[in-house]
Amino acid sequence: MSDPLPEHELIIIGGGVAGLAAGIYSVRSRIDTLLIERAFPGGLAFSTHLIENYPGFPGGISGPELTGKFEAQGRELGLKIDNRGVSSIHPADDGFVLTTSAGALKTKAVIIATGVTPKQLGIPGETEFFTRGVSYCATCDGPLFRDREVAVLGGGDSAVQEAIYLSRLCSKVHLIHRRDRLRATPILQEKAEEKPNLEFHLSNIPEAIEGKERVEGVRLRNLKTGESKLLRVDAVFVYVGYNPHTEFLGDLIELDDGYIITDDDMSTSREGIFAAGDVRKKPLRQISTAVSDGAVAATSAEQYLENIESSVKTETDENKKLMLRLKRIEGQIRGIQRLLQQGHDCKAVLQQISAARAALFRAGIHSAVANFRRCAYDGKGATTDFHEDIERFLETLEKFS
Ligand SMILES: Cc1cc2nc3c(=O)[nH]c(=O)nc-3n(C[C@H](O)[C@H](O)[C@H](O)COP(=O)(O)OP(=O)(O)OC[C@H]3O[C@@H](n4cnc5c(N)ncnc54)[C@H](O)[C@@H]3O)c2cc1C
Repeated sequence: MSDPLPEHELIIIGGGVAGLAAGIYSVRSRIDTLLIERAFPGGLAFSTHLIENYPGFPGGISGPELTGKFEAQGRELGLKIDNRGVSSIHPADDGFVLTTSAGALKTKAVIIATGVTPKQLGIPGETEFFTRGVSYCATCDGPLFRDREVAVLGGGDSAVQEAIYLSRLCSKVHLIHRRDRLRATPILQEKAEEKPNLEFHLSNIPEAIEGKERVEGVRLRNLKTGESKLLRVDAVFVYVGYNPHTEFLGDLIELDDGYIITDDDMSTSREGIFAAGDVRKKPLRQISTAVSDGAVAATSAEQYLENIESSVKTETDENKKLMLRLKRIEGQIRGIQRLLQQGHDCKAVLQQISAARAALFRAGIHSAVANFRRCAYDGKGATTDFHEDIERFLETLEKFS
C-alpha cells in the first residue's frame, strides 16, 4: 500500500502579501498551515521599489523590506513556507488533494492567493524602463509624476479609469489606443472627455518607449496616416489587462474572465476553498486590500474548519448514543435467546422479537434489521437458521461497537 499523503488543515497557495497575511492570521489561530510559493515570498510587492501608500511607513518603504517583514513575522509565528508550484486541485474525501511540483498534498481547506501578472505590450523599451518611467500601476506610481506629462496605453475600463485618476495629479495625460474608439464603458468615456488635460490619441499604436536613463517619450504610429512621431512624456502607464493565475483551477470554482468570484467572506463557489488578493474579482488591487483579503480569508477558513470539526464531534456524540441503544438491543436479543433455550411459548418470544426490531429501526440500523428480518420462528421452537441469524446479527452489532 502507498504511503498516505502529507496532510495539513489549511494550505495557502501563493506567497504574496495576501497569502502571507492569511498565513499570519491562520498560524495565530493555531491552524496547521502550509504556504506554497512557486517563486519567492513577497510576490508582486517584492518587486516594487518604493511603496508610499501602505499605511504605517511615513516616507514609504521598499517592496523587499516590507515583504521581508511579512515573511519574517509569519515564520516567527510558525508559518511553514514551501517552495513549490501547484498545478491542480481535486476534491477528495474530507478535503482536497493538490498536485504540486514536489508531490501531492492533502488538505481540508485551501486559500488561493496566486495574484495576477500585468500583461505586457512587448515593445522595445518596455522591460528596459520598467520602474524608470514604465509602470503597470497608476495608483502606486502616479504620485511620483505629479505635475508632469504622462501617457496611458490602453482603451478599456482600467486604462480610462487610471487616465482620469492621473489627470488629477499630472499636468497632462495622453491616452493612446490602437482602435478608432475606446472599449471603456460610455460613462467612463464621458468622464474622461470632461477632463481638459486629458488628450486622446485614437488609431495610434505605441511602437517603442524611448529615453536614456529614464523614459523620455513614447513613439507612436498613426494607423490611418502611417505617420510616426515621438510623444514626449516622463512616464508610460501600460493598461492592456492582467492575467490572473487561475489556469490550474480548471472548472473547480466559478471564475469571471479568469478572476475568482468570492463573497465578502472570501469564500468561493466551492465549500472549503477561499481566495484572497489580486486573483479575485474586485475593484481595487493594492497591498492594503490584499492584506485585508488575506485576513478575512484566514478567519473564514478557520470558521469552516471549526464547523467541520464540530460536526464530526456531533457525529461522535451521536455514535455514543447509538452504541448505548445497541447495547440495550443486544440485551433484548440475548433475552430472546434465553427464552428460546428455556422453551418459552411463542407469544413471549414474538413480542421480544418485534420490540428488538422496532428498537433497531429507531436506531437507524437498517442493514441489521434486514439481517434480523430473516429470522424465522415457527411458533413451535427456534429453527437452526434462527440461531445462526441471531449470531450473525450479534456480529453485525459488534462491528458497530
Ligand atoms: C508595478 C506595480 C507596482 C505596484 N505598486 C504598488 C504600491 O505602491 N502600493 C500598493 O498598495 N500596491 C501596489 N501594486 C499592487 C500590489 O503589488 C498588488 O496588489 C499586491 O502585491 C497583490 O498581492 P497578492 O498577494 O494578491 O498577489 P501577488 O503579489 O501577485 O502574489 C501571488 C504569488 O502567488 C505565486 N503563485 C502564483 N501561482 C502559483 C502557483 N500555481 N503555485 C504556487 N505559487 C503561485 C506567485 O509566484 C506570487 O508570488 C503594484 C503593482 C504593480 C504591478
